[in-house]
Amino acid sequence: MVCPDCNFHAMGFIVFWFRRDLRLCDNKGLFEALRTSHQVLPLFIFDEKILDGLPANDHRVEFIHQTLSAIHAVLVKEGSGLHVRKGKPLEVFSNLLEQYDVKNVYCNQDHEPYGRQRDDEIRNLLSSKGIGFHQFMDHLVMGLNDVVKPDGLPYTVFTPYSLRWKKKMSESLLQHYPAESFMERFSKMSPFEFPALASLGFESSGFDMPVANIDQDLIRNYHTTRDFPHLDGTSRLGVFLRFGTISIRSLVKMASLLNETFLNELIWREFYAMILYHFPRVEQESFRVEYDRISWKNNESLFESWKAGKTGFPMVDAGMRQLAATGYMHNRLRMITASFLTKNLLIDWRWGERWFAGKLFDFELSSNNGGWQWCAGTGTDAAPYFRIFNPLEQQKKFDPAKDFVRSWLPEIDSPDYPNPVIDLKQSRLQCLAAYQFALRG
Ligand code: FAD
Repeated sequence: MVCPDCNFHAMGFIVFWFRRDLRLCDNKGLFEALRTSHQVLPLFIFDEKILDGLPANDHRVEFIHQTLSAIHAVLVKEGSGLHVRKGKPLEVFSNLLEQYDVKNVYCNQDHEPYGRQRDDEIRNLLSSKGIGFHQFMDHLVMGLNDVVKPDGLPYTVFTPYSLRWKKKMSESLLQHYPAESFMERFSKMSPFEFPALASLGFESSGFDMPVANIDQDLIRNYHTTRDFPHLDGTSRLGVFLRFGTISIRSLVKMASLLNETFLNELIWREFYAMILYHFPRVEQESFRVEYDRISWKNNESLFESWKAGKTGFPMVDAGMRQLAATGYMHNRLRMITASFLTKNLLIDWRWGERWFAGKLFDFELSSNNGGWQWCAGTGTDAAPYFRIFNPLEQQKKFDPAKDFVRSWLPEIDSPDYPNPVIDLKQSRLQCLAAYQFALRG
């Protein structure tokens, strides 16, 4: 039955399920949902399986909550509202199907092992009731099977992947999906109550919530500024790409026009997502399995010094303190701190990966895992294991006037600053020996 007032099918809903695409503008799956002739019920689920592992003051939960609240406010102006639930997605959907006449469910694709398993379960539930589950690629430009080697297998090395990626790039892949032009199609039922953060069992983190600023001049100069942490010469867009509050298509469009180096970084993001999708075992294992024979020292007290930014190596400590204080760490510091943990302290990359996962605003399983395995030398396109970052040389090169380290280590020139926790030369030799031994088989 079509409603004469709004031309909608008065009966039945399309559910649009927001996940890593928290925006109304240029959202591909949402656009496709709004183009149907049914009313669209916008849904977000705070997934207990994820929330249960987080502290009550988790800053990412606060960021998501704030973002959803802004989306809800826009929808309320349209006479609609965001339907927010907390629970296990399968139970939330079972419940929803009892309440509403759901015709189809639309969402954008996820590439992570947990997300894929969750989606399989939802797909099965829906199909058992004759309801369709429609997914679209929105958070990456290229589909996860779209950039493959001539023999059809996934690339495992970045450079040939990126060349093929660029060859495949076309205007149509960057098209804008104007979901924002169909706002009247959201369901108009009595407004949903938007939950307070506290009612979800969370509280304010005390962190400044990041605000997106796409600075074209910064992107234009990116290749000259990106390696110097005191310059603030990177985009800081990671968190917005992670939660989809900005469109990757519009950013890639801009990057293609403004700066090749910046574009390459966005391709690294797609590369690691593709790797995790095709090799989900990397979530637990080294990509090169022979590296799992390394006999890590895993010294707890050295791990504590690293976490606290008290190793006595200024670049390492400044990076770790930046992370703890802001939920962000500059890429150069991520490489230095990760190399130091794995190579100089001989601590399993998985320990460091987990620590970053708990702290980074822009935590993205695929990029974090890829970054850690790159630094540990265990990954796909890894730097050879014998290339070990020297944190002191890195400081001379990338923070020569000590601007960055001073800003995070006020005590650096005083007796309060810790002595180095290890001998750099010795630790290097120890690392080479441990890696060589493991690779000998
Ligand atoms: P910019 O330098 O401005 O780059 C723009 C965007 O490109 C980033 O926001 C990001 O989405 C993407 N990007 C840049 N470099 C990389 C890269 N090497 N790999 C994948 N994507 C990249 N990035 C994450 O998004 N989440 C993580 O959890 C993460 N963990 C990392 C852990 C380690 C050990 C290392 C070495 C790197 C990690 N990175 C991660 C990659 C990179 O450090 C961050 O993307 C970048 O520092 C974020 O800052 P920005 O937004 O200013 O990046």
